[in-house]
Amino acid sequence: MNEFSLIETYFHWNSSNLVNLGIGDDCAVIDIDANYQLVTSVDTLIESVHFPSNTSASDIAYKSLAVNLSDLAAMGARAKYFTLALTLPHTNKKWLSQFATSLKSLADEFGIVLVGGDTTRGALISITINVTGVVEKNKALLRSSAQVGDFIFVSNTIGDAAYAWKQLQNNQAPSEYVINKFNRPKPQLFLGQQLSDIANACIDISDGLEQDLTHILTRSNVGASINLNDIPLINEVKTYIKKTSDWCLVLAGGDDYELCFTVPVKNMNLLKALQNKNNTKVTQIGVINDSMVLTKIGSFDKPCCSYQHF
Ligand code: ADP
Ligand code: MG
Repeated sequence: MNEFSLIETYFHWNSSNLVNLGIGDDCAVIDIDANYQLVTSVDTLIESVHFPSNTSASDIAYKSLAVNLSDLAAMGARAKYFTLALTLPHTNKKWLSQFATSLKSLADEFGIVLVGGDTTRGALISITINVTGVVEKNKALLRSSAQVGDFIFVSNTIGDAAYAWKQLQNNQAPSEYVINKFNRPKPQLFLGQQLSDIANACIDISDGLEQDLTHILTRSNVGASINLNDIPLINEVKTYIKKTSDWCLVLAGGDDYELCFTVPVKNMNLLKALQNKNNTKVTQIGVINDSMVLTKIGSFDKPCCSYQHF
């Protein structure tokens, strides 16, 4: 049983009227008043599963909050507050001080406030963060609203973090640039907010481009074709792919925390204006169609295995 059928079988309960959008998207959307909705999500990072044991306290703190902020970004939300459940094998003042300083600095950068949590002892470091943000009513970006004819985009570059992880596993030393992308993914909150009037559908790429784009396709009842050669890659990753043809690194490596979103043709000029205004790097990689499947155009059309917990 994989994690998605586990959730579907045991936890996909009917939700009350208050819940505008429940399980199945990057965040849940809850009605609060006539003008705004709460947007909320929780993610856990566990030592040796999500980060190697020798990761610094400061990087662990950054990544734990950043991956949660990334889910708010995928909804086009503004971050408001978060809770922190911290499990540690023992207390260490230096570790805690570095963890707290890094967490606060990222929280301040995005204007999100720590309002509570829980602290426990356990065998491995485990960090669970629940973030809450707000969107204007019915403005949340969803996985389920892609339309046939939409162009598919991704932000920045894909595969950087997966390349760092691959090198670490092979006892090679990753460049500072890629290890930083792995440890400190920059949440695309501002991009997400600006896309809420431009994009039809959006998801953040946490498990790999192929699997996460497929979530958009499944929930929107559409298909897509993407061109592998259009996927934006840094030179290091390009060279690696040239040598190995290991496209799975890019398609299924995960840990990108970039946004994948679809834009209707009528909004392309708005997207162009956004690109020029903020120097935002977004790249078109394909188009939504009615085929119900994902077609990969390029030198490679094999299935890749995205990360799954079960
Ligand atoms: P993401 O990668 O954006 O964090 P996931 O793939 O982890 O999202 O989860 C898919 C959906 O299933 C989300 O809407 C999430 O809230 C929901 N979900 C995951 N685990 C559980 C659970 N144990 N109980 C209820 N809902 C869950
Ligand atoms: Mg997500």
